[in-house]
Amino acid sequence: MYEGVVQDLIDELGRLPGIGPKSAQRIAFHVLQADPTDVRRLAHVLTEVKAKVRFCSVCGNVAQEEQCRVCLDPRRDTTVICVVEEPKDVVAIERTREFRGRYHVLGGAISPIEGVGPEDLRIRELLSRLADGTVTELILATDPNLEGEATATYLARMVSAMGLKVTRLASGLPVGGDLEYADEVTLGRAFEGRRLLDV
Ligand SMILES: [Zn+2]
Repeated sequence: MYEGVVQDLIDELGRLPGIGPKSAQRIAFHVLQADPTDVRRLAHVLTEVKAKVRFCSVCGNVAQEEQCRVCLDPRRDTTVICVVEEPKDVVAIERTREFRGRYHVLGGAISPIEGVGPEDLRIRELLSRLADGTVTELILATDPNLEGEATATYLARMVSAMGLKVTRLASGLPVGGDLEYADEVTLGRAFEGRRLLDV
């Protein structure tokens, strides 16, 4: 235990995802020794990101305005929606330049172990986007792991009566992993070779 504010900093850092007690301590001491200007800049972006960034009212992606850049772009294909778990997956897919449609960010995946059920994800919002019949293809790009597969299966069943083309990214993605860890070429290929899901 350190004194006062140093320990507070270590505690706060330790609450971040992927930061264990040792890393928290290392980062805290890095901050203590860093140039005050650098630390101020870090503190500034932390506050700014909370003040300025929100989630797109249509797709759930991060946005600077009410809607995100993809939803606001009139050149994007409105007939295809790619369903992903997190905004970081949107970034990964955008990097491949293979996809010209729009996204839907679920905010996670179904995971009974972690207590995440369908009602905790933005599934109702997705169904209401599909209601008017504009969308003809739904690409399920949830992570290639147990939770991601379960979520894809759930969604495919959910929309099966809507007459949509429902596809899943091709195999070749690292199984058990996160979409974001796939390199651009692999992810791009998985997109091109997406297969029809029949449920
Ligand atoms: Zn959006």
